[in-house]
Amino acid sequence: MNTTETAATSALRSIVDVLAAAEHVTVLCHTRPDADTIGSGLAIAGALRRRGTVVEVSFPDSTTLPAALAELPGADTLVEPSEVVGHPVVVTVDCASIHRLESLAAVVEAAQSSVVIDHHASNDGFGTINFVDPTADCTAELVLEIIDALEVPLDVEVATCLYAGVVTDTGSFKWASPRSHRIAARLLELGVDGRRWTRRLLDTHRFAWLTMVAAALDSAELVPHAFAGRGLVYAVVDHESTAALGWEESESVVDIVRTTSEAEVAVVFKEALPGQWTVSMRAKSEVDLVPLARIHGGGGHRLAAGYGATGTATEVVGQLLRSV
Ligand code: 5GP
Ligand code: MN
Repeated sequence: MNTTETAATSALRSIVDVLAAAEHVTVLCHTRPDADTIGSGLAIAGALRRRGTVVEVSFPDSTTLPAALAELPGADTLVEPSEVVGHPVVVTVDCASIHRLESLAAVVEAAQSSVVIDHHASNDGFGTINFVDPTADCTAELVLEIIDALEVPLDVEVATCLYAGVVTDTGSFKWASPRSHRIAARLLELGVDGRRWTRRLLDTHRFAWLTMVAAALDSAELVPHAFAGRGLVYAVVDHESTAALGWEESESVVDIVRTTSEAEVAVVFKEALPGQWTVSMRAKSEVDLVPLARIHGGGGHRLAAGYGATGTATEVVGQLLRSV
């Protein structure tokens, strides 16, 4: 057994002790919420409620909840950050850093026990108990490990929330580990409607999405010499083209841009508010994006990372180009 396994095993044991003893628990998901953070949050909440625990789940309200995630079982129980009580036991799911909780970071800091459940390589372990496993494809699979250790039987609602995390963070199983496939099989056998949720979470867009994607692809540039000749491709999604659509509709653009065969790295600059950008980066296999994301104040995984930036499109693109 290596050190990481030992640390993870002891974290798991502590988490089970803390959660089994808690009567009230606060669960927090990250800003710009995706299916892994909301699915993980609703799954752990659902499982704890089955044990009789009172649970509140929230996420920062600087962005809205994507419509598809609002359809997940239990999403109706999400509370606004202003309504969060902040219990002595706080669980964060899929949060690479405490900053991704925005104002809810104060709830973590005030907690007696803060449990961090995450799979980001860049996670610095900001909790009192940190269950961080970068070998996991998604946070949902770590949540399942905790639910199993708590010996709570899975129901189809909790299983659906977990499936949402697995199917999105593995890119519809494109890069899923054997473990993710086994978990998916278990969840499907419990009755999860995989076909329905895959379509809803990954393959459903408004008509206006086509126009937005067309403009984004039209902006694409190839920089063959970047990353020591491995190549960079980037595209820009300005605020105007997503304003009417909802921020989450631009999340999928990077999955199209990254297919460029001449580039190891793909970057999409998304203007969330005028002059305020979120930057999504993807590598195919050879470039570790975590150090690059960190240079720009962000984080993530080796092959998928991101950061926030401010300025004009020319300025934020220029900042990145100078750093590669
Ligand atoms: P995405 O491009 O899908 O938004 O993010 C890719 C990965 O990078 C995700 O795992 C996400 O958690 C991480 N990431 C994106 N933006 C930020 C950021 O501003 N800060 C940190 N720490 N991680 C980020
Ligand atoms: Mn995740």
